[in-house]
Amino acid sequence: MDIIANFINGQYHAPLGENYLDNIEPATGLVYGKIPDSEKADVELAVAAAKKALPAWQAMPLEQRADMLSAIAQEIEARNDELAMAEAIDNGKPVALARIVDIPRAASNFKFFAHACSQFASESHAIAGTAINYTLRQPVGIVGCISPWNLPLYLFTWKIAPALAAGNCVIAKPSEVTPKTAALLGEICQKAGLPAGVLNILHGSGAKVGQAICQHQEIKAISFTGGTTTGAQIAQLLAPTFKKISLELGGKNPALIFADCDFDNTIEQVFRASFANQGQICLCASRLYIERPIYEKFKQALVDKAKALQPNDPLLDDSQMGALVSKSHLEKVLGYIELAKAEGGKVLAGGKQVNLAGRCQKGYFLQPTIIENLDNQAQCNQEEIFGPVITLQPFDTDEEALTLANDSNYGLAATIWTNHLGRAHQLAETLNTGIVWINCWLLRDLRTPFGGMNHSGLGREGGHEAMRFFTESKNVCVKY
Ligand code: NAP
Repeated sequence: MDIIANFINGQYHAPLGENYLDNIEPATGLVYGKIPDSEKADVELAVAAAKKALPAWQAMPLEQRADMLSAIAQEIEARNDELAMAEAIDNGKPVALARIVDIPRAASNFKFFAHACSQFASESHAIAGTAINYTLRQPVGIVGCISPWNLPLYLFTWKIAPALAAGNCVIAKPSEVTPKTAALLGEICQKAGLPAGVLNILHGSGAKVGQAICQHQEIKAISFTGGTTTGAQIAQLLAPTFKKISLELGGKNPALIFADCDFDNTIEQVFRASFANQGQICLCASRLYIERPIYEKFKQALVDKAKALQPNDPLLDDSQMGALVSKSHLEKVLGYIELAKAEGGKVLAGGKQVNLAGRCQKGYFLQPTIIENLDNQAQCNQEEIFGPVITLQPFDTDEEALTLANDSNYGLAATIWTNHLGRAHQLAETLNTGIVWINCWLLRDLRTPFGGMNHSGLGREGGHEAMRFFTESKNVCVKY
């Protein structure tokens, strides 16, 4: 049994209440470990450690702080295989995917912000002949970082790295469903020489330890990534406290596929955008709008590819599709497939749970699923499913494609597939999403603003946006 511990003040600690939650391997459906069911008292311990560490961390010369973040990045890279395997066991994602995406990206997050903090400048405004203003950007203090299960170490570090780079001490909580790589990050920080108390990692449920982090008076900012409903709860909880808050929430991302696209490349990329990580990436395409002249051809090509993609044991090197993260999540996604049928949808491919033989016979596997014939207002076109399920609709004009794409409460990411440059730029300008990819998907430059509009969130991460979030700006006006 793999029992993990909280990482507080540079050391591993059992939860003060001595309560644990089960950790289940999605590919087998079996309990393989225990995680601390932390509570308020554990948060108090972590905050005390962070408070003690804060003055020295803030006073540390920038270069030294940056070197420490680089050392963490190197240690993650050195443990790539072990971390990838841990991620695959915990999350159900193909180990090969974790090896080339999740873990290298976690290292890049630290590497990137090690450099970003030295390039982060603030403004100066002169009042000619009278005064000069300059803006200081100072660390917020102790901050909370709460992350989801779909890209565990990748998104955990996407928050922690800029928070540390900006000079804050961090209390971080990974999803209770995927705690393993976050637990290993403690060891990595020890090895890299991060001072005790600078990063504290608490495990447990959102309702208990997550909420206690949000409510703690000494934690001055909360960076949250997760579902829209949880985000709304946290926003409500924090409104009277005036804490800084960043919310990266759900999506229902449209893909606009035009008849003049590069057909072969578009099929490859749109298929990947639909089903990578079992469709459990907030940026995955889930509503596909296809221009009518290529609708049938594109649909058939997608269906052929979906039928050829078989879920398999994620720990096998050649597995391209693993398990969904949990039984309850699998049931939720299956529920949406049933709902789609009730809403008049036609399942063109997939739609069923997969029962593998051997060690994975009780795992949470689902066929890649393609549905057509649903109205844009159908629940399955409006609500986030967050699994390997996409819907297809034809369109006739650019205006219609835009109207359908924007007909959503969400606004995270959109993709446009066309060789018509003017159309692509015009649509990019008018789509209500925080991110638009043209003829590509998930091509990430960590300097760019990352996040969504409307029900997809509040604020942006990435590059200087993240450095701004994790600092307080203070204007100083000097009269001549
Ligand atoms: P979730 O249920 O909202 O949980 C996210 C995190 O918040 C988890 O660590 C969770 O702990 C914690 N939490 C739950 N309730 C809380 C509360 N009341 N107070 C404080 N923390 C609380 O989301 P999820 O199911 O893990 O993740 C899937 C969702 O994340 C999807 O909607 C997806 O679109 C979204 N997402 C968005 C982005 C983005 O960048 N916009 C990226 C990835 C994922 P427990 O695990 O213990 O519940």
